[in-house]
Amino acid sequence: MHEMALCESVLAVLEREAQSQSFHRVKTVWLEIGALSCAAPEAMTFCFRAVTRGTLAENATLEIVRTPGRAWCMDCSDTVTVGERYDPCPLCGGYQLQVTGGDELRIKELEVA
Ligand SMILES: [Zn+2]
Repeated sequence: MHEMALCESVLAVLEREAQSQSFHRVKTVWLEIGALSCAAPEAMTFCFRAVTRGTLAENATLEIVRTPGRAWCMDCSDTVTVGERYDPCPLCGGYQLQVTGGDELRIKELEVA
């Protein structure tokens, strides 16, 4: 599962942060997931629980923050909001879109102990 690998990299970041900022437990992780990233929030929650078992983030709460997809429509010469990667432009219905944002997956904030 793709989300498993994503959660493993999130955990790697947490472990690195724990060393540099010397904390021992992660209580809450706010993870920003763009609407156009290929991570499904439900699967992320499930995998996060599995991946963090026995680690500093065991039983940590994963708070998922969805960010909207942004794309540039060449036909409209405008930035539009899109829900899915291959959605048409909501203004003109065209497919000449270049994704400009909303495909990220990053840790926004941590609550640690
Ligand atoms: Zn358009």
